[in-house]
Amino acid sequence: MRRRKKGSDSKKTKKKIGFRRLVSNNLFALHTIWSASPVYMTVYLGSSLVYGLLGFLGETYVLRYVVNGLERGKDLGSIVRFVVILACVTCAFRLALSWFWMVISPKHKKKINMHIVRQLFKKSAEVELSCYENPAFYDQYVKAMEEATNRTLSVMYTLDSLIAKAVSLSANSFLLFLIDPWLILFGLFPLVLGFLRRFERVASHSCESEIKEIKRREKYVKRTFYLNEYAKEMRVGGMWSNMLRDLRETWTDFRRVSVKYGFRRAVCGYIRRVGLDVVTVLGATLYAVWSTMCVGASNGGMSVGDCIVVIGSIGVISSCLNDLVQNLAEFGEHAMFLEDVRYFLAYEPAIKDGTKSAPEGGDLEVKDLSFRYEGCDRDTLQEISFCWKRGERIALVGSNGSGKTTLIKLLLRLYDPQKGSVSLDGTDVKDLTLSSYRSRFGTVFQDFKMFSLSVKENVLLRPTQPGDDELVEAALRESGAWERVARMEHGIDTILTREFDEKGENLSVGEQQKLSLARIFADRTPFVILDEPSSALDPIAEYTMFQNMMRATEGRSVLFISHRLSSAVLADRVLLMDGGRIAESGTHEELMARNGKYAEMFRRQAENYLGSEVNGHE
Ligand code: ADP
Repeated sequence: MRRRKKGSDSKKTKKKIGFRRLVSNNLFALHTIWSASPVYMTVYLGSSLVYGLLGFLGETYVLRYVVNGLERGKDLGSIVRFVVILACVTCAFRLALSWFWMVISPKHKKKINMHIVRQLFKKSAEVELSCYENPAFYDQYVKAMEEATNRTLSVMYTLDSLIAKAVSLSANSFLLFLIDPWLILFGLFPLVLGFLRRFERVASHSCESEIKEIKRREKYVKRTFYLNEYAKEMRVGGMWSNMLRDLRETWTDFRRVSVKYGFRRAVCGYIRRVGLDVVTVLGATLYAVWSTMCVGASNGGMSVGDCIVVIGSIGVISSCLNDLVQNLAEFGEHAMFLEDVRYFLAYEPAIKDGTKSAPEGGDLEVKDLSFRYEGCDRDTLQEISFCWKRGERIALVGSNGSGKTTLIKLLLRLYDPQKGSVSLDGTDVKDLTLSSYRSRFGTVFQDFKMFSLSVKENVLLRPTQPGDDELVEAALRESGAWERVARMEHGIDTILTREFDEKGENLSVGEQQKLSLARIFADRTPFVILDEPSSALDPIAEYTMFQNMMRATEGRSVLFISHRLSSAVLADRVLLMDGGRIAESGTHEELMARNGKYAEMFRRQAENYLGSEVNGHE
């Protein structure tokens, strides 16, 4: 694993957000929640308002009411009545709120999460593959995916706290103002210290961003220890010690980042808290005691009840102000993370969607196609031209790195060419909607992936419908995977991998390949593209698979890449790629008669195969 230069991350992640953007990002989150569930938002924020008021009445006002009432000889009955009514209202409110949180809230929370995730997943499906090769974009993409749901809801939680504190603060301040207007000065002092919050906020965002990068590396290293796909390499040789070294370095980085930002955060926090405790709370307490004892209620000073209220209230005011400043800082923090989410959602994919629906089939014409990967200094594909006739079976062959997979990616519009065009039945594919165009292809990639879902879902790659079972079974028979699936306890309903299901099944690479091939038998698309479909199969399984494939894809246009040229014999036409160009094109017989590169490759493979057979018999 390549190590990052230390310190480079903080520069990359430290970004400034203007006030307007800060407000707009937070409003964006609130708008998102409102669109998904206005009920949830109304109850959540409305309850904070009531909560703040009840808090004030129950903590501060009741104290003043009782002490002043007793001091002034108010009758006990009315005091008790007031306290009991307040207690009943508080209990009823809390009961209603608990019921809402326990019973109603999970449903609405799920709705909100789904609303956010749907937007993100939709966008992520539109993002072109080249974005995955751009580290800065990829980083932002990962952060957006990780942060979106939590951050959006956090904006509402912060607003909720802000409302409750603002209500409590206003009520307590008003009471203090009525008792003695000078007391407000003590209450305002925490605001002066608020600027320290800004330093803490910037430090904590930079710290979190850097730690996130390190955590990504840590997770990767840990994955190599427990994931099946690394299990063999980790057991032979000494690779595990390299990964252990990387894990140790990652933890060293954790410590470095924590120390780097921890000191600044601790100093700012200390000054702020001490300032609050000493100046605000102690100052106001001393002033209230002086006013009660030295001036006296009869000379315009405070009564004992007011003094007690001031001592209790000033603490509440100071903590509310402290929380409010923290809430404002949190809005800033949310805005920074939401900037990634909004940037990602606003991303305009370079591969533009067309407007027309793709025809059901037809000739696929490739004209003067040239393509270069971002950041490369030469073209991977150069002036490729050929016509893939309706129903034609083409074998795409050539040495490693000659551009076969890249050509397939361009045919599927996973990338767009810098020069040239692809047209389906006479229409430039750029004018067709991506979804309709891609739905015309059944594709099995070389690096196909199995999902930890049922066999059935892995074959269909879509939500299942009634009547699918027969379709799946037939497809599995065609691809040669049925024998293995039939042995499974739950047949096509068996979950693949044991990661989430003890009764799940782990398949060998060859078995997985057969299963992925069943996808093209289950879905009768007019075009079939297979990128080395037989690389993990033994020669007999490969032969059977190709025979089945030719039979099952009768009438469909098939393009397959295969390293074993014996399978190219079955194709109507062979395209040989060399250095990003189509070097030879024709039937197997034509190319053999031409005696060029294809003929040479074919003979060499045949000799090797025969040679190994002879050796095998000896
Ligand atoms: P083949 O399928 O014939 O083995 P590929 O199409 O995979 O060849 O690759 C053709 C060339 O393009 C190779 O030199 C490969 O290194 C390069 N290449 C493939 N993918 C990328 C990529 N994402 N970014 C840059 N270069 C790439």
